[in-house]
Amino acid sequence: MTNNKTYFVANWKMYGDLSSLKRLKRVIKLSNNRFYKNAEIVYCPPLTLIDKFVKITKKYKIHIGAQDCYSIRNYGPYTGNVSSDQIKKLGAKFVILGHSEKRKDGDTDVIINKKLISANLSNLKIILCIGESILQKKNNKTFQVIKKQIKNSLKNIKNFKNIIIAYEPIWAIGSGKTPTNISIEKITSKIKSFMRQNYNINSIKVLYGGSVNPQNILHLKKISNINGFLIGGASQNQNKFIDIIKKSIN
Ligand code: PEP
Repeated sequence: MTNNKTYFVANWKMYGDLSSLKRLKRVIKLSNNRFYKNAEIVYCPPLTLIDKFVKITKKYKIHIGAQDCYSIRNYGPYTGNVSSDQIKKLGAKFVILGHSEKRKDGDTDVIINKKLISANLSNLKIILCIGESILQKKNNKTFQVIKKQIKNSLKNIKNFKNIIIAYEPIWAIGSGKTPTNISIEKITSKIKSFMRQNYNINSIKVLYGGSVNPQNILHLKKISNINGFLIGGASQNQNKFIDIIKKSIN
């Protein structure tokens, strides 16, 4: 990992209810420990819990994010949707966009681009997920695919300061499989140079996501150029999440 701050983004997906709030206790305690001051802990619970998460973590170094937002920034007749301003006003600072589980539900690059423009205007920090399928990997199309995802999602974006990229191979999510460190490092470096060459951005942060767990973290932390991890399954268990943070930072 780089020497900068390390992101630990917990994606709780569609898990958790009010009884799950107690699972924050030990993480809150850890966030208060000066030894972990370089850990940027971000919880992305389901929308139903954002307000509670914001209140519970208010005095601590833990940020809250949403797992998606709508493509219209403020208010309107869009039943069932939640806008980026509404999320921001709840006190969340981050939003995940383009997660493969949302893409599977119908989010195209065009939709993700609209959501990204809204979230950017709402001044949310955006975690843009990109990644290839197993077939695309087998056909050696990984970089071609993610380059297109980045280009399309960032269309008409002028302000990049709030954007973080999460490289999440679809086949690694929830499968227990991960790419080799060499392959993650290679792709991360390609993403970083793509951002430099095409958008003049020298400091884009790139996270890795896909089956990160307490067993593989000691190996994954050796990847020299990533800025942290997006963690799904393992983040819902506070012992596992803490274990990942501790092993990464120590
Ligand atoms: C995710 O949901 O973004 C994710 C990486 O999930 P998991 O860690 O469970 O593979």
